[in-house]
Amino acid sequence: MSEDCIFCKIASGAIATDLLYQDDDVVAFRDINPKAPTHILVIPREHIPSLNETTPENKRLLGHMVNVASALARSEKVDGSGFRLLINSGADAGQEVPHLHLHLLGGQKLAAIG
Ligand code: 5GP
Ligand code: ZN
Repeated sequence: MSEDCIFCKIASGAIATDLLYQDDDVVAFRDINPKAPTHILVIPREHIPSLNETTPENKRLLGHMVNVASALARSEKVDGSGFRLLINSGADAGQEVPHLHLHLLGGQKLAAIG
Protein backbone atom coordinates (compact mmCIF):
# COMPACT_ATOMS: atom_id res chain seq x y z
CA MET A 1 0.00 0.00 0.00
CA SER A 2 1.26 3.44 -0.95
CA GLU A 3 0.23 6.06 1.60
CA ASP A 4 -0.79 8.76 -0.85
CA CYS A 5 -2.36 6.55 -3.50
CA ILE A 6 -6.08 7.05 -4.09
CA PHE A 7 -6.52 3.58 -5.63
CA CYS A 8 -4.72 1.89 -2.71
CA LYS A 9 -7.21 3.67 -0.44
CA ILE A 10 -10.13 2.42 -2.53
CA ALA A 11 -8.74 -1.13 -2.58
CA SER A 12 -8.21 -1.16 1.20
CA GLY A 13 -11.61 0.36 1.95
CA ALA A 14 -10.06 3.53 3.44
CA ILE A 15 -12.14 5.42 0.87
CA ALA A 16 -15.64 3.96 0.67
CA THR A 17 -16.45 3.00 -2.92
CA ASP A 18 -19.07 0.67 -4.35
CA LEU A 19 -17.11 -2.34 -5.53
CA LEU A 20 -18.54 -4.28 -8.47
CA TYR A 21 -16.12 -7.13 -7.87
CA GLN A 22 -13.37 -8.00 -5.41
CA ASP A 23 -11.16 -10.92 -4.55
CA ASP A 24 -7.76 -11.42 -2.92
CA ASP A 25 -5.92 -9.88 -5.86
CA VAL A 26 -8.11 -7.29 -7.61
CA VAL A 27 -11.02 -4.90 -7.09
CA ALA A 28 -13.33 -3.28 -9.66
CA PHE A 29 -15.37 -0.09 -9.36
CA ARG A 30 -16.97 2.55 -11.57
CA ASP A 31 -14.84 5.40 -12.88
CA ILE A 32 -15.73 8.67 -11.11
CA ASN A 33 -15.69 10.56 -14.43
CA PRO A 34 -17.11 8.06 -16.94
CA LYS A 35 -16.15 8.43 -20.60
CA ALA A 36 -18.79 5.92 -21.71
CA PRO A 37 -22.08 4.56 -20.27
CA THR A 38 -20.10 1.65 -18.87
CA HIS A 39 -16.71 2.74 -17.53
CA ILE A 40 -15.20 0.45 -14.92
CA LEU A 41 -11.68 0.25 -13.53
CA VAL A 42 -10.08 -3.07 -12.56
CA ILE A 43 -7.04 -2.63 -10.33
CA PRO A 44 -4.66 -4.92 -8.45
CA ARG A 45 -4.72 -4.63 -4.66
CA GLU A 46 -0.94 -4.47 -4.82
CA HIS A 47 0.46 -1.00 -5.53
CA ILE A 48 2.06 -1.36 -8.96
CA PRO A 49 2.54 2.14 -10.45
CA SER A 50 2.14 1.19 -14.11
CA LEU A 51 2.80 -1.47 -16.72
CA ASN A 52 6.42 -0.27 -16.65
CA GLU A 53 6.83 -1.88 -13.24
CA THR A 54 5.29 -5.24 -14.10
CA THR A 55 7.46 -8.33 -14.46
CA PRO A 56 6.91 -11.87 -15.74
CA GLU A 57 5.82 -12.69 -12.18
CA ASN A 58 2.76 -10.51 -12.77
CA LYS A 59 1.61 -12.62 -15.73
CA ARG A 60 -1.13 -14.39 -13.77
CA LEU A 61 -2.32 -11.10 -12.19
CA LEU A 62 -2.51 -9.32 -15.56
CA GLY A 63 -4.41 -12.21 -17.09
CA HIS A 64 -6.76 -12.22 -14.13
CA MET A 65 -7.46 -8.48 -14.57
CA VAL A 66 -8.44 -9.13 -18.20
CA ASN A 67 -10.65 -12.07 -17.20
CA VAL A 68 -12.39 -10.00 -14.50
CA ALA A 69 -12.96 -7.12 -16.93
CA SER A 70 -14.37 -9.50 -19.56
CA ALA A 71 -16.73 -11.01 -16.98
CA LEU A 72 -17.86 -7.50 -15.99
CA ALA A 73 -18.51 -6.71 -19.68
CA ARG A 74 -20.91 -9.66 -19.66
CA SER A 75 -22.62 -8.66 -16.39
CA GLU A 76 -22.92 -5.07 -17.68
CA LYS A 77 -24.42 -6.50 -20.88
CA VAL A 78 -22.00 -4.71 -23.19
CA ASP A 79 -20.40 -7.93 -24.41
CA GLY A 80 -22.83 -8.23 -27.32
CA SER A 81 -22.50 -4.64 -28.56
CA GLY A 82 -18.76 -4.54 -27.94
CA PHE A 83 -16.35 -3.06 -25.45
CA ARG A 84 -12.76 -1.90 -25.05
CA LEU A 85 -10.09 -2.76 -22.47
CA LEU A 86 -7.39 -0.13 -22.12
CA ILE A 87 -4.33 0.50 -19.95
CA ASN A 88 -2.66 3.91 -20.08
CA SER A 89 0.98 3.77 -19.11
CA GLY A 90 3.03 6.90 -18.55
CA ALA A 91 2.78 10.53 -19.54
CA ASP A 92 2.32 10.22 -23.30
CA ALA A 93 -0.62 7.87 -22.75
CA GLY A 94 -2.16 10.34 -20.31
CA GLN A 95 -1.93 8.12 -17.22
CA GLU A 96 -3.29 10.22 -14.35
CA VAL A 97 -3.35 7.79 -11.45
CA PRO A 98 -0.02 6.06 -10.77
CA HIS A 99 -1.56 2.73 -9.71
CA LEU A 100 -2.03 0.18 -12.48
CA HIS A 101 -5.64 0.08 -13.73
CA LEU A 102 -7.47 -1.54 -16.60
CA HIS A 103 -10.32 0.48 -18.11
CA LEU A 104 -13.45 -1.29 -19.33
CA LEU A 105 -15.39 0.97 -21.69
CA GLY A 106 -18.63 0.18 -23.46
CA GLY A 107 -22.27 0.97 -23.99
CA GLN A 108 -21.75 3.28 -26.95
CA LYS A 109 -19.82 3.42 -30.20
CA LEU A 110 -16.25 4.21 -29.10
CA ALA A 111 -13.95 6.49 -31.08
CA ALA A 112 -11.49 4.56 -33.19
CA ILE A 113 -7.93 4.51 -31.91
CA GLY A 114 -4.90 3.19 -33.67
P1 5GP B 1 -5.81 7.15 -16.35
O1 5GP B 1 -5.90 8.43 -17.11
O2 5GP B 1 -4.79 7.22 -15.24
O3 5GP B 1 -5.67 5.94 -17.22
O4 5GP B 1 -7.23 6.97 -15.67
C1 5GP B 1 -7.51 7.33 -14.36
C2 5GP B 1 -9.01 7.22 -14.20
O5 5GP B 1 -9.31 7.20 -12.82
C3 5GP B 1 -9.76 8.41 -14.81
O6 5GP B 1 -10.70 7.93 -15.78
C4 5GP B 1 -10.45 9.04 -13.59
O7 5GP B 1 -11.74 9.52 -13.91
C5 5GP B 1 -10.48 7.92 -12.59
N1 5GP B 1 -10.42 8.34 -11.19
C6 5GP B 1 -9.53 9.22 -10.66
N2 5GP B 1 -9.75 9.37 -9.33
C7 5GP B 1 -10.79 8.54 -9.03
C8 5GP B 1 -11.47 8.24 -7.81
O8 5GP B 1 -11.17 8.75 -6.73
N3 5GP B 1 -12.49 7.34 -7.88
C9 5GP B 1 -12.86 6.74 -9.05
N4 5GP B 1 -13.88 5.87 -8.99
N5 5GP B 1 -12.22 6.99 -10.21
C10 5GP B 1 -11.21 7.88 -10.21
ZN1 ZN C 1 -1.70 2.39 -5.12
